[in-house]
Parts: sequence; structure tokens; C-alpha cells
Amino acid sequence: MTVTAQSHAAPSTASAPEPADAPAPDAPSAAPTQASPAEAAAGETSAAVTVAEAPQTSATQDDPHPAQPARPQLTFRRLTVSATRRLTPHLLRVTLTGDDLDGFGTAAPDQYVKVFFPHGDRTRPDLPPPIEGDTASWYRTYLAMPDDVRPPMRTYTVRAFRPEQCELDLDFVLHPDGGPASTWASSARPGDEVALMGPHGIYAVPEDATWQLLVGDESAIPAIAAILEQLPRDACARVFIEVGDPADRFDLPSPAADVDVRWIVRSPGSYGDAVLDAVRAADLPPAAPYAWLAGEAELVKFARRHLVRDRGVDKRAVTFTGYWRKGRSEEEIGRESLAESASTSASASASASAS
Ligand SMILES: Cc1cc2nc3c(=O)[nH]c(=O)nc-3n(C[C@H](O)[C@H](O)[C@H](O)COP(=O)(O)OP(=O)(O)OC[C@H]3O[C@@H](n4cnc5c(N)ncnc54)[C@H](O)[C@@H]3O)c2cc1C
Repeated sequence: MTVTAQSHAAPSTASAPEPADAPAPDAPSAAPTQASPAEAAAGETSAAVTVAEAPQTSATQDDPHPAQPARPQLTFRRLTVSATRRLTPHLLRVTLTGDDLDGFGTAAPDQYVKVFFPHGDRTRPDLPPPIEGDTASWYRTYLAMPDDVRPPMRTYTVRAFRPEQCELDLDFVLHPDGGPASTWASSARPGDEVALMGPHGIYAVPEDATWQLLVGDESAIPAIAAILEQLPRDACARVFIEVGDPADRFDLPSPAADVDVRWIVRSPGSYGDAVLDAVRAADLPPAAPYAWLAGEAELVKFARRHLVRDRGVDKRAVTFTGYWRKGRSEEEIGRESLAESASTSASASASASAS
């Protein structure tokens, strides 16, 4: 395991991906969406965000900000690639543009969208019917589309949105296991088309948090970079990022006064172990952190367990999201999550009618 640290007491100016326009700092934040019902009941497991859980359009008790208008969140936006740029050997920036970005809102620094890719040799994605009613039933409709038509749908962080230039950046991990999103990104060219749905965000710092802990792998770099860019000057953050290749490390600027970024290089294929060891061994600030954890599902699960059980961190101050699961495509995870929700609802109805 290799650990390198990047600390700065002032805004960093070292080489980094192009500075991005940050979403408005006072944008409405969405209620945290983390585990599926069954996972939430278990209390300490992680989940990949699925469309069945993700897009939310109205304010909740946890979300005192005004709700975003429903239409922009649930509208499909057809966009074209305007540029691509290799940030590191395994991270590729795809810049999208198009009139459909008009009205694109902002949700939170870690905001993400569902991206629909063209199927097979098609040049543009064939989109499912628009969302009407609940997102779970829409997701069933999407999954029922013929296999040779259904556009692969994957989740990506909005690394930057520049409304003045009508541009939006997504940063894709080019991972070795392929998958439609990674494969599409690796050969994306200006003029190629995708569609987006969203955005939605999860990052929400409790008022009493005195510092922030951000933990993730390559897939979380776009969100961590956006979070760091938007920290207030007086914020304190400790960041642990696991990568497979030392060449994937780069400077992550932040206006915050006290940020320490540690890059940890894993042994080939052993996702999560190295960063978990680093977090477990770390001398972290005392008192009340807000922890934001994202990346491979097991990494996230065990990081949360360590914080809650070993360090006594309040569960409610931990946002944890499985961004992907080793050996499983996002669609497989979505199907499993839907089946699990259906079986939980069926058990709940059976118990209700029995009592
Ligand atoms: C809220 C959210 C935000 C996300 N933001 C980003 C982002 O900004 N950038 C980004 O790159 N990813 C991000 N992800 C993760 C991304 O959605 C998944 O990695 C997705 O599975 C990639 O789709 P795919 O078609 O390439 O692979 P899939 O078809 O889903 O999977 C194919 C195979 O690849 C493996 N795999 C998937 N992702 C990885 C990975 N990162 N490393 C190694 N193996 C992998 C799977 O385990 C599977 O075996 C985000 C996920 C969520 C839930």
C-alpha cells in the first residue's frame, strides 16, 4: 500500500483538472438517499443508488429548502459530447452540451444524474416513456423494454455544470471490467449522444458537525473534488481516496483552510482494503465529524461500520453510498434492489393483514 498526502492551509494552485464552475452554494439539498428499505432495516449496509430510490422532487422534513420543480428532475435531456479529456490514466472527462441543459438545476455538491447510453450500434439512446407516478414503477417499465433496445442506464456525478457555456462535465472511471458506461466513454467523440435524468444530491452536513471525513475510491473522485471546491474557508476536512494506479493521483483544490488529502494505492484487485486500513489507523480530529463515504459497496459498508462501532460516530452523521459493487453491473444491482423492495412490501402487507 502506498500513501501520499496532500495538505494545504490555503487554496491550492498546483496542477489539477480544469477548475470547474461550482453549483450555487445555496442550492436546495436533497434528503439523504442511502440504503434500500431492507438494507436500511439492517442498519449498517450500503447500497448503490438505484433509480427506484433516487429522483426525488419534493421537500421532506429533512430538506427544509424549497423543493426543486418536478419537471426538470424527471425530464430526459438529450445532450451531445462537445469534448473529451483524459485527466489521469483511468479518469476521462466528457463534456456535454445541448439546449436541453436549459433549466438544469443544482442539488448538492455530490449531485448525480442517470445517464442513458445508446444501445449496441445505435447512435442515440432510445428513451423509455417519461416518468409518471412513482419511480419504481417507471423503473419496471424501463427494465421491461426489449433487451436489444433498452438503453443502458448508469449513474454519474455532475463534476461541473457551467450554465453560461451550456456545458456539463462527467468524469468516467475507465475500469478494467468494461460495462456499457466505461466502454462508451473510452471511445466517446464530439457529436455522440446520450440522455440524462436528474440531478439529485446526497451530501448534507449536519449543523453541529465540526469537521468532515470524505472516503472513497476512483468513482468518488468527481464528487469529492466538487465537495472540496465548495467547502467554506473555515472548514476542516480529512480525505482518503483509494486508487489502483499511482498515476491517478492529482491535486484537489479547495478554498478551505484545513484540508488533508491522502491517496492510497491498493494492491491489484483488492478493492477497499487499503483505504480501510488507512482510515482505521488514522489519527482523526476529535468531536463531531460529518462522514461522506462512497465507492465500492464493501468499502463503504466497512468504513461506516468502523466509524460507528469503533469511533462512536453518530449514524445520522454518516452519508454512505455504494457507488458500484464488485462483480455486479449497475443494472443487476437495480433489479435485485427492486425485487428486494417488492418482497419487503409483500411481507409488510402479509403481516398487516394477519394482524
Ligand atoms: C450516486 C453515484 C455517483 C457516481 N458517480 C460516478 C462518477 O462520477 N464517475 C464514475 O466513474 N462512476 C461513478 N459512479 C459509479 C458508476 O455508476 C458505476 O461504476 C457503474 O457501474 C459503471 O457502469 P459500467 O457500465 O461501466 O459498468 P457496469 O456494467 O455497471 O459493471 C460491469 C462490471 O464492472 C465493474 N465495475 C463497475 N464500476 C467499476 C469501477 N469503478 N471500478 C472497477 N470495476 C467496476 C462491476 O463490478 C461489474 O463487474 C457513481 C455511482 C453512483 C451510485
